[in-house]
Order: sequence, then C-alpha cells, then structure tokens
Amino acid sequence: MPGLSIAIVGAGIGGLTAALNFARQGHSVTLIERRPGFSEVGAGLQLSPNASRILVKLGLGPALRRVATLPDRVVVRGISSGKRIGEVALGPYMQQRYGAPYWVVHRADLQTILLDAVRSEASIRIVTGRKVEEVRDGLDHAELVWTASNGARESLNADVVIGADGIWSKVRQVIGDTASPTFHGYIAWRATFDRKNAPPELAGNETGLWLGARGHVVHYPIFSGHLVNVVAIEKAKEPVEGWAAPGQPEELLAHYSNAAPALRALLQQPQEWLRWSLFRHPIKRFAKGRIAILGDAAHPVLPFLAQGAALAIEDAATLGALLPGENRDVTEALSAYESHRLERVTRIQAEGRKNGRIYHSGSLIAFGRDKVMQLIGPESMSNRYDWIYGFRTPE
Ligand SMILES: Cc1cc2nc3c(=O)[nH]c(=O)nc-3n(C[C@H](O)[C@H](O)[C@H](O)COP(=O)(O)OP(=O)(O)OC[C@H]3O[C@@H](n4cnc5c(N)ncnc54)[C@H](O)[C@@H]3O)c2cc1C
Repeated sequence: MPGLSIAIVGAGIGGLTAALNFARQGHSVTLIERRPGFSEVGAGLQLSPNASRILVKLGLGPALRRVATLPDRVVVRGISSGKRIGEVALGPYMQQRYGAPYWVVHRADLQTILLDAVRSEASIRIVTGRKVEEVRDGLDHAELVWTASNGARESLNADVVIGADGIWSKVRQVIGDTASPTFHGYIAWRATFDRKNAPPELAGNETGLWLGARGHVVHYPIFSGHLVNVVAIEKAKEPVEGWAAPGQPEELLAHYSNAAPALRALLQQPQEWLRWSLFRHPIKRFAKGRIAILGDAAHPVLPFLAQGAALAIEDAATLGALLPGENRDVTEALSAYESHRLERVTRIQAEGRKNGRIYHSGSLIAFGRDKVMQLIGPESMSNRYDWIYGFRTPE
C-alpha cells in the first residue's frame, strides 16, 4: 500500500527524527530547512531512556555509542558551600531499570547521525535554504509556500504537514495558537572545554549539578568523553536573541562570584560562552486538520528536567506510529496524536517549572530540600521519574 506524502518544516532534532520514522513506515517525506546547510551548532543534549530507546530502535545505537557518554550518576552540590547534597543513579542503573541508556551527546553529533540516516533513505528529500512562509490546510491536501534563493515563490502539496520549526514556529500559528512564548526570566550560558583541564575532583564520569538561589550549573562529559559541556543558568531581566548570543566570561564569573573553589575553577576554563534565553509556552494543541506540530514548536520546555530533545524525539516516534497508510483518515490520526501527547507534555512542562523552583529556592526551603535529597538515595531519586523514562511509543 503506498504511503502518504509528508512535508516537514524544520530539520532540527525533532524534524530529522520524524523524517526517519515516517520513511521507515513507508511514507514519502520532504524536509524543508531554512538554514543553508547543517553547520555544527549547539552543545550538550541529554538523551534519557525514553528518547534513547527510540533512537536505538531506529538503528542509531552503534553510531551513538561511539560519540555519546554514559555518566554513572548525577552528583548534586550546593553552589557556594560546595557540599555534596545527593546523587541520582544513572549509567548501569538506568540501563537495567529502563532497558535503554541515559546518554549525553553533543547536539552536533546527534544531528550528524540523524542526518546520515535521513540521507540514506531514498524516500526522504531534503531541501535547505528555504524558509517556509505559508502553510494552508485543504480538504484533500495541505500546501506549503516558500521563497527560493533566486526570489521565486515555490509551493508544495502534501497529505500532511508537520511543523518541527522550533520555538518561534510559524506552523503553530496556522493551527490556531497565535500567542508568543514568554520570557521566563533566565538566560542559559553554554560552553565546552577540554576535559583534561577540568579540576580533578570534577573530571569523573559523572554529571555535576550545582544548586543556588541565583541560578544553577550543570556539567557533563560529551564528545566521546573528550570535552566537558557546561550550562550555567542565570536570572535575567531581559532575553537575548537566538541560540548563540556571545557572552563575556567575566560577566558569568561575576554572577557566580560566591561559587565554591572547584566550581569557580571549572567555570574559568571556557574561553568562549554562548547564551540563549529560556522561554515558556503552555501547550494548547498539537494538530488541526492535516497539520501537526512537534518538539519546541509545540511545547518549549525549560531545561530543568533535560527533556527538550527527548520530548521532540517522543513526538516524532508517536507520529510515526499513528500515521498509517493512505486509507485511514489523516485528520483522525493527527487528532489521536494530540490525545496521546497533551497530558504527558503538560505534566513534563509543569515538572520542569517545579524543578526550577526547587533548584533556586532560598535558604530555608533549600535546607529542607537538601535533607530530603540526602534521605531519598540515588536509586529512588531516579525512580521518581519512572513515568518519564519508562515511556513507550504507541503500537
Ligand atoms: C541552532 C540551535 C542550537 C541549539 N543548541 C542547543 C544546546 O546547546 N543545548 C540545548 O539543550 N538545546 C539546544 N537547542 C535546542 C534543542 O535542539 C531543542 O530544544 C530540541 O532538540 C527540540 O528540537 P526541535 O527539533 O523541536 O527544534 P529546533 O532544534 O529548534 O529545530 C527547529 C528547526 O526548524 C528550522 N526552521 C524554523 N523555522 C523554519 C521555517 N519557517 N522554514 C524552514 N525551517 C525552519 C530551524 O532552522 C531549525 O533547524 C538548539 C537549537 C538550535 C536550533
């Protein structure tokens, strides 16, 4: 039975994963990306078992194992005291409990692996350097319009259009959600540096999480363990633009002037910092007619639960499972997709906000938080999120 024709707007992690899932289900895919090429952008991403299970099923396990790292645990410490507050079991524990690894990867590595797999599928066409400007829904097809580099208007008809076009999604507006994301009052700083230069006490195979009232810091090894990825969250009044606004190291160090010596030594390593702003946008809907959205287009999440890329991957796999051959009503399938995702994503968005409040709480609440974390123990700290990591794609 011939499959559907599917157009995907945006070739980020979500769009690439969706293309691969659709191709494996026998659909023909056109993937349209506004950037002219796939340069290496971003830094670390966490791939918890709910996401890694999907990537392994797509056959990407061997390639990912070559570049990803598998931290043994998260070590939680206080920013200024430097004291160990608690631990979260990762590594072998996660693999055993959820049947899939908890990987951390460089975003560029994941993008390259997905892109290689996408390029090897004859039924996927990639069109770069084209910014989709209009999307229209119709009775028997949907239509996309973009402007080519020579200024000519080009259009494409497809059975289904998927908006994987990121936080400032155009496609989200077309399905009726016209509100803009709102600034959440935080800026994330990211950098990488050679792991050989990490302070010895922080150079182990683990994720470091440092909590404080004015922000928090996360670091873990990436790039087959050769680099350390650091993300430092700072409270801010105004957002910065895009994913890669340059930041002055002195400014970050001033913000973390009260940090424990080991953390300060770590923050002093990177020569170059890039910043992006944290926005929130409550999910309202996932689909309308023949058009659906996924990933950050549907539900930007705060990076306080490390589920941004994972949720985009889950969305993509769910769509792949629910969009069948040409005989089933496409709009019904997309509405089933919305029903599958709405509650889970809303809960994860809320859990991320809650983590932000816990991470950045003032001294009295922090005292209680630290006591509870010490009591819970590493394995129970992981098990709290069985409902996240145990996700299975619908059959
Ligand atoms: C450049 C970049 C760097 C990032 N770096 C990090 C990082 O270091 N750490 C981290 O945690 N997260 C990072 N992220 C975010 C992370 O990738 C996402 O939160 C998560 O993977 C969900 O991805 P997504 O595919 O839904 O959206 P995105 O990764 O945002 O991808 C959306 C894609 O759609 C394309 N697009 C947008 N509008 C149009 C249009 N009209 N027509 C055609 N194409 C369009 C964009 O160019 C982009 O490639 C980055 C995202 C980007 C785009």
